[in-house]
Amino acid sequence: MNKFLLVVLVLLTGCTMRPPEDISDHPVTGTYRFVEETEGNLSLVNDEMRVLVYQEFIRTFRLSKDPHYYFRPITILVNKEIGLPADFVPHDLIKTQVATSPRASNVMIRRDVNIALKTLFSAAKEEGMELWFQSGYRSYSVQKRLYQKYVDLYGEERANSFSAKPGHSEHQTGLAIDVTSPSASGKLVNDFGDSREGKWLAENAHTFGFIIRYPADKTEITGYIYEPWHLRYVGIELATYLFENGLVMEELDN
Ligand SMILES: [Zn+2]
Repeated sequence: MNKFLLVVLVLLTGCTMRPPEDISDHPVTGTYRFVEETEGNLSLVNDEMRVLVYQEFIRTFRLSKDPHYYFRPITILVNKEIGLPADFVPHDLIKTQVATSPRASNVMIRRDVNIALKTLFSAAKEEGMELWFQSGYRSYSVQKRLYQKYVDLYGEERANSFSAKPGHSEHQTGLAIDVTSPSASGKLVNDFGDSREGKWLAENAHTFGFIIRYPADKTEITGYIYEPWHLRYVGIELATYLFENGLVMEELDN
């Protein structure tokens, strides 16, 4: 049997199983690597299988918010409560192929996100706007240094409002990107949200599979200040669902 078909069948078999109550029976090691490998090979399965696997990812996400359980899909929830292991590194990171800002750092991103970003950046360009990629994947250790820097500068409480503790940054998933524009002087500032590019992103990002992860009216729920520049890739289906219902990931029913 084709290896990928086998993987798909293994995933689909999981549909009939209820996750055990006690997730401590399931060690972290091995499970996420399995999923990362599976997901990375999705382009090799046909469209029908791809949809089935994707639906399974969504279903699993809705069943369990625990990142240590089963899968690490593109819909994975990472926030102040739910984190990633220090050794979690997405397997398919590549250097982004979209325009980067002069101050860009951490320019690696997951392969599928890069593809979606290219489409989004091209669509913006067609509308006469220029976007810049500022920051993508950040490893646990990079985030640790960054968070500590902000704590030293601003104190822990203020740092927590805009910076994640190591293991709790969406940037470690390789699915989050900070985006800016020449019109915002390449800065990550609130004004970006009022710029033509920022407004266009807020209205259209979901059609490319991205959400504005930390909206202005959800700061109490997300725990983060308004970040009009922080995009999170979740796939078109979930992004559209969240956009149309005005929800953030924390508000999804499980
Ligand atoms: Zn960010």
